[in-house]
Amino acid sequence: MAFSIQDTLKQSHDAVPFSKQQITDMLALPPDSVESYAIMAEAKRISKSLTQDRAEVHGQFAINLSPCPKNCKFCSFAVCNGIFKKASQLSPEEVVEHATMLESQGVNAIYIMATANYPFGKFCEAVQETRAQLKPETMLIGNVSDQELDGAQKLADAGLNGVYHALRLREGIDTGLQPEARKNSIRSFKDAGLVVGTCVEPVGPEHSNEELAEMILFTASFDPAFSGAARRIEVPGTEIAARGMISELRMAQIVAVTRLAMPRSVTGNCTHEPYSLGAAAGANLFWAELGANPRDIKEHTEEGRGFTTGKCSELFRDADCGILKGPSQFFRKH
Ligand code: SF4
Repeated sequence: MAFSIQDTLKQSHDAVPFSKQQITDMLALPPDSVESYAIMAEAKRISKSLTQDRAEVHGQFAINLSPCPKNCKFCSFAVCNGIFKKASQLSPEEVVEHATMLESQGVNAIYIMATANYPFGKFCEAVQETRAQLKPETMLIGNVSDQELDGAQKLADAGLNGVYHALRLREGIDTGLQPEARKNSIRSFKDAGLVVGTCVEPVGPEHSNEELAEMILFTASFDPAFSGAARRIEVPGTEIAARGMISELRMAQIVAVTRLAMPRSVTGNCTHEPYSLGAAAGANLFWAELGANPRDIKEHTEEGRGFTTGKCSELFRDADCGILKGPSQFFRKH
């Protein structure tokens, strides 16, 4: 059946799930077409109504910087990219300082990220110590390697509210991780009572609309705190940079289609890196970043690609979005 924007908008208004073919058709529209802009407006309407117009800014910092043997081609930490040669890590005091600084800036959730080879026991200790220093209502989220149920339970016991975990596009082909391990980890985190946020990432020009539609539906399948879409950033000096980068407009289109394809129980719709066009297209979650960042060649991303909490809020305001004050509502999900 030929694509009809009227039918698509009606189906979205009625909250009737979209099929893979319908999602693929929406993704196949030219990003600057009237139809794509209508889908972006509809995505913003949904995001606004699900959150009472309260977008969220989350803050992430890395506990360590280390050449990582998992060799995800898009990551500046990957050994194969040869960008960072030396390992470094925050002291326990610095971990707490980073977290409390983000808390004082008013982020709605704080993420602690570690590379795949960071010692797990040490990470749990850092979470426990940080949790003890934060306000009880502050949302503390982990961005860690794959875990079985036992590890996920330890993270929950240490004081995490949730995790960020994604099955990346072409996982196992462009990354050194196994798709099944990623999926199993998501199940383990959920079984341990951790709320999982996710994303369709990192999108490059080579990914087909079918591939993206399949991944959008995978994220919908486990009812995350948020889904969304993020483009792959060209990290200078990496082989994968030759594949290029999608435009912000194309990313906004994918963000909007993702919103339409998610069930309404998924209230968050993220995008990265932050841009006001994304917020205008239904993104309601941006990340501020501190320290090491897998898309940056600077050791401290605040001197490079990283966005501050204030800048993220400004970008939301530029898209006429309200901003939540207080702990993340996305991670309140049960
Ligand atoms: S994305 Fe994670 S697992 Fe992959 S190379 Fe980077 S730090 Fe390692």
